[in-house]
This record gives sequence, C-alpha cells and structure tokens, in this order.
Amino acid sequence: MSKIPLKAKTDLLSMTPDDLHLALSRHFSDRGQPDYRAGQVKSWLYQGLVNHFSEMTNLPLEERKALESAFEIDQPTPKMVQVSQDSTVKHLWTLKDGELIESVLIPTDRRLTLCISSQAGCAMACTFCATGWGGFKRQLTAGEIVGQYRASQRWANKDGCGPITNIVFMGMGEPLANQRSLPNSLTILNQGYRIGARRITVSTVGFVPGIISLAKRPEQFGLALSLHSPVSKLREELIPLEKQFPLADVLQAIDDFKRDKGRRVTLEYTMIRGINDDLDLVHSLGDIALRFNAFVNLIPFNPIPQNEWKATEPERILEFANRLKSRGVSVAVRETRGRDIDAACGQLKAHAMNNG
Ligand code: SAH
Repeated sequence: MSKIPLKAKTDLLSMTPDDLHLALSRHFSDRGQPDYRAGQVKSWLYQGLVNHFSEMTNLPLEERKALESAFEIDQPTPKMVQVSQDSTVKHLWTLKDGELIESVLIPTDRRLTLCISSQAGCAMACTFCATGWGGFKRQLTAGEIVGQYRASQRWANKDGCGPITNIVFMGMGEPLANQRSLPNSLTILNQGYRIGARRITVSTVGFVPGIISLAKRPEQFGLALSLHSPVSKLREELIPLEKQFPLADVLQAIDDFKRDKGRRVTLEYTMIRGINDDLDLVHSLGDIALRFNAFVNLIPFNPIPQNEWKATEPERILEFANRLKSRGVSVAVRETRGRDIDAACGQLKAHAMNNG
C-alpha cells in the first residue's frame, strides 16, 4: 500500500469553487501571471474534467509545471468496470492509499443517475448491507466524492451516454456521518459541476445531526431516509443506529427538514422475505409516509453473501404497494438494477477482495 507523502500538495478537487478561485488567483499572482489563468484552470477541471495539468493545453508549459509542483488532482483511478445486461455500469475505484470504493451509473428513460460512495466502508453495520459487514475504513475527501462523478462522466462521454442528470448518495457509506467532506462535495457538485441541487439526493439511515445540518443549507438538496421498518424494535434489528437515533427522533428531524426546505422526502424500504414484509406493517408505514407526504420506494432485497435472506416475493411487494396506494401514499416498486454485476451496495468490492 502506498503512503501519503508527509507534505501533501493541495488537492484541487476537494476545494469549493470559491476557495479554488482564491488559491489559483494567489498562485498566478505570485508568479506574475494574469488572473484569467485561474478561470482557465477552473474550466479544465469543471468542464474539461481533466486529470492532469499537462492536459491544460491553453496554459504555457511552464505554468502547467508550476501548477504540478504546487497542487494535485487527486482523482480516483478505475480498477474495474462492469456493464450489466440492463446497461447499469458499475465502477470500482482505487484511492491514493489503496482503499476501494464503488459507484454505479443507472440509465433510465430520460435520466442518467449516478450513485456514489461517501465513505470507504461504513460504520453503520446494517445487517442486510454488504458494505456494513465489511466495516468502516475511512472518510472520503470531497475530492474523492466528486472524483467519482468526474470519472463517471468521462466514461459516459466516451460511451455516448450523455450527461449525468442526477446524483444519489446511495453507494458505500453513510453520507451524513461524513461531515468533514459531504458539505463541500455538495457545494462542488452544485456550483462547480453545475448539477442542480434538486437533482442531488442524500440518502441516510437516520443520522439526525446530519439531517439537521442539511436542512440548514440554502440549497434544495433532496433527502431519502432508509426506513426499512416503520416499527422501532424491528428497525433496530436491521439498523443498529436506531439505538442511538430512535425512529421518533429521526421522523421529527425529517419533519423539520420538510418544513425548512419544502421538499418532498423519499422513504426507502428494502423488502426482505419474512423479515420486514408482514402486511400488518403497511398501516404504520402508511402513517409515516402520510405524515410528511413522502414518496415510498419499495426495493426488493438484493441477496448478500453474509446471510441467507431473500427478497420478498414480487406478488407480496405489489400487495404492499397497492395497500399503500389505496391509503393515498405515492409509492413505486423499484426493479433491481444490475443484479448480474452485483450492483447492490458493497458487493463488487466484496467480490474483488474475495477474488484477490
Ligand atoms: N447509508 C445510506 C446510503 C448507502 S445505502 C443509507 O443507508 O441510506 C443505499 C441504499 O441501499 C439504502 O437504502 C440501503 O438500505 C440499500 N441497501 C443496502 N444493501 C442492500 C441490499 N442488499 N439490497 C437492497 N438494498 C440495499
């Protein structure tokens, strides 16, 4: 495993556009260069999506070299890419210290959605999640988070997929538990790469302080709650964080988020056979959904190697959905995408590790 040098260069990808402009302006002014050079570098990073200063061809060679010695572009490098029969594309990326993270591109009719990771591993230890079983490694930097977007967009450009329209933080990790980098990564994606705030969704298992911080932001970022059970006791068996932040507190924080942002919240409900798919649960799930007019996504569980659980039968998922609908809840049954390439959270990394 390679070591990070003691005196690390400043990573341009981790800086907010304002900080980036300031740092570059200073750098060029110290070198007696015109201020528009800062704008040139910013365009290469945000529009050109380049990974090396040498690619910034409208800058004099000397300036490219000077940038190289002062700064770095800490871009994750692709280790593996898999394309599913349904066109879902899964990337496994290597970070500078050798850690592995995943992202998934999901093309649908009018959208190209990118699902990104916020941490290497995850500390939440949800019992149905492959990443949770692998434990926590470290927080990602903002640059490593946005780097997944940059590299995926480059891949999509090459493949003729067009622009990424939506970003969801539903890869590895609990995004709201990465308060060091998540706020800046949101700013960078929104202001730097121009992804509309309404097209970026942060998915959380219920990390209350993070929900409160997100609510305080001026932008209209979306929020999804991984609910998985409307009953605290059952939820605790699936999601250990329930002990620290009980459902009642999480729902209160979501109420506040909705009041402050005026945005509709999504509830994610992964359906596991015989575990959280009792039809008796529909009523309380409906109550929660109606409380803040949430949109409910029912997702068939994607089996993981760590336990024997199976997805709920499709007929029962439909029954769940129909009963919710008849109470006036907006609900969608999600198809499992990329099953043939292990696109469920944490599975590609688990396989890559098992296979050396
Ligand atoms: N920590 C965040 C984001 C990462 S997980 C969160 O929990 O929301 C993204 C989504 O994938 C969550 O809704 C999670 O519950 C779901 N998920 C994880 N493992 C899964 C599996 N094996 N099958 C189906 N959904 C799964």
